Amino acid sequence: MSGRIIDGKAVAARVRADVAAAVKQLPAQPALAVVLVGDDPASQVYVASKGKMTTEVGMRSVEIRLPKETTQDELIARVAALSADPEIDGILVQLPLPKHISEPAVLAVIDPMKDVDGLTEASAGKLVLGGPGLRPCTPVGCVILAKTERPDLTGANVVVIGRSILVGKPAALLFLEQNATVTIAHSKTRDLKMVCRSADILVAAVGRPEMVRGDWVRPGAIVIDVGTNRVPAPEKGEGKTKLVGDVCFPEAIEVAAAVTPSPGGVGPMTIACLLRNTVLAACARRGWTVPEALAAG
Ligand code: NAP
Repeated sequence: MSGRIIDGKAVAARVRADVAAAVKQLPAQPALAVVLVGDDPASQVYVASKGKMTTEVGMRSVEIRLPKETTQDELIARVAALSADPEIDGILVQLPLPKHISEPAVLAVIDPMKDVDGLTEASAGKLVLGGPGLRPCTPVGCVILAKTERPDLTGANVVVIGRSILVGKPAALLFLEQNATVTIAHSKTRDLKMVCRSADILVAAVGRPEMVRGDWVRPGAIVIDVGTNRVPAPEKGEGKTKLVGDVCFPEAIEVAAAVTPSPGGVGPMTIACLLRNTVLAACARRGWTVPEALAAG
């Protein structure tokens, strides 16, 4: 192994510590509301973890759990009530929603000032226009992790594989905000391997287990693996599974300067950035000065 492992858990813990320090300096306690519809086991785990970490950093956590039969109108009414509630600073609707509910219709009723997930059209518009606003959590996490290795991204060649609304597109725009030169690759990109080999920073957000091989990585590059894929792990026993990224970690670490593992890389950053966004949202909406601990990032 020649490259460094970028420890997302440790970086996320630092971000959460900054958030906790910032919360102590605020005139009142910000509140984050998380809305979960249905009983998807993975979503239940995420929501519980978000609630726990919200209280750990000193904020108020409001969890709204609704049955999977909840109608779109009922959900919209609940989210609209949170948008109107002066005591709520951030709103996150856990995705995916049950099939009978339109996600865009629900996201549309989140007050953009409380859109801590950064997924509404208003937040996406602000990102494209380069105006102040709440940025999507996972892509922000990618930039923070890349900057632990290369604090100034000016002029860096960044290749983002994936153009989803959730990750690829906002990640590309955030690296552009950092003055990087950004290429977005996708399923129709020709000669993907060669495109990837041009990257100083390679961001993989594809959803294909270990697609990025060692010889796709330019020697000395920084690799940010967003992928979280569950695959069979017969070596652990019959029927067992494990999580792997979009990058073949053992190969990439031989070539790269640094690689995020998956799990343990980008994943932990998402909740940390959500908590950070909640403080920023509270400050913007309530007219508070952003505490120094968060002002820099
Ligand atoms: P997505 O919506 O399915 O998008 C995947 C993107 O990858 C698409 O733009 C697609 O291109 C591209 N793609 C698919 N196959 C490709 C190929 N063979 N070559 C090049 N590009 C290809 O997925 P997503 O929501 O962005 O998520 C991506 C990964 O990140 C998943 O593993 C997901 O679990 C993970 N994720 C992790 C976190 C976290 O850690 N907190 C958060 C979100 C997502 P087209 O547009 O051309 O179809």
